[in-house]
Amino acid sequence: MISPEDRPETSTSTGSDSVLEVTGLKKYFTIRKGFPSKRQDLVHAVDGVSFFIRPRETLGLVGESGCGKTTVGKTVLRLWPPSGGRVKLNGRDITQLRESELRPVRSAMQMIFQDPYASLNPRLSAEKIVGEPLENYRLARGREKRRRVLELFNRVGLGREHLAKHPHEFSGGQRQRIGIARALALRPSLIVADEPVSALDVSVQAQVLNLLISLQEEFGLAYLFISHDLAVVNYISHRIAVMYLGRIVELSDRAGLFGSPLHPYTQALLAAAPEPDPRRRLEMVLLEGDVPSPINPPPGCRFQTRCRYAEDRCRAMEPALREVLPGHWAACYLS
Ligand code: SF4
Repeated sequence: MISPEDRPETSTSTGSDSVLEVTGLKKYFTIRKGFPSKRQDLVHAVDGVSFFIRPRETLGLVGESGCGKTTVGKTVLRLWPPSGGRVKLNGRDITQLRESELRPVRSAMQMIFQDPYASLNPRLSAEKIVGEPLENYRLARGREKRRRVLELFNRVGLGREHLAKHPHEFSGGQRQRIGIARALALRPSLIVADEPVSALDVSVQAQVLNLLISLQEEFGLAYLFISHDLAVVNYISHRIAVMYLGRIVELSDRAGLFGSPLHPYTQALLAAAPEPDPRRRLEMVLLEGDVPSPINPPPGCRFQTRCRYAEDRCRAMEPALREVLPGHWAACYLS
């Protein structure tokens, strides 16, 4: 088993050799305002997000529910077309590719879902589920397909006896292992994992996280790891981006973010997280009020309606995300 402490830290200074490079990504949704009114509103779900991920690197994307982190994941994978910005995968700009052009690219980027039960076809056996991508991409058939499925099963801790079983016959952790094997079948370079352990028991969470870590080492995978759980993100990530209302407000390596958080929102998230050692608990900074609507985000700093340090300039102009310390970025006038 590989401890995260044994893993090489990655530099955060440039994205030139990135698996994934995202620049100014935007995703807006149009919603109709009542019936029969024809008025439409624009939801700014993701509004100018930039980051990169290198091979063998995990970028954790964390924030409250509704902050846009899942939208980032799905837009990066081109499951949803972006409204603006650029996405590069292994150096290739995939932002404007048509569906037919995307097909070969999709094998290099896969997704692991939150609810393994909902994401697996209940009518198919585990063998068929994991073998399906191999067949769809005409990479293997018959005996060769079974051999490769068994190899994948073996790699994620499943055995030959599991081949014929259906999703309902597995535990939650085993189902997530099937989802991981399916994601690995096409040997991707990028995996977007959207809350992959939040539906699992805590004891099983650690097993699945350790599996993801060892697979990353073995296959050189880059992970975009989306979670609301700071402990989980701390365990698996090399760097972490904190999202608030469609924007990244802080981005740093793990030690920087957890050791000296710069943005008041990050500080509030960390203060609200359970901390077993009371001596290490940050001064309690309670988050007040609700997250504002992404249809009509507040002017200036998006966090100003909940920030106890807000001053006039915060309401007048939005602070840029800037590199405050080497590799440690924050969007706050006080940083
Ligand atoms: Fe708070 Fe102002 Fe910093 Fe925004 S810019 S987080 S409102 S202090």
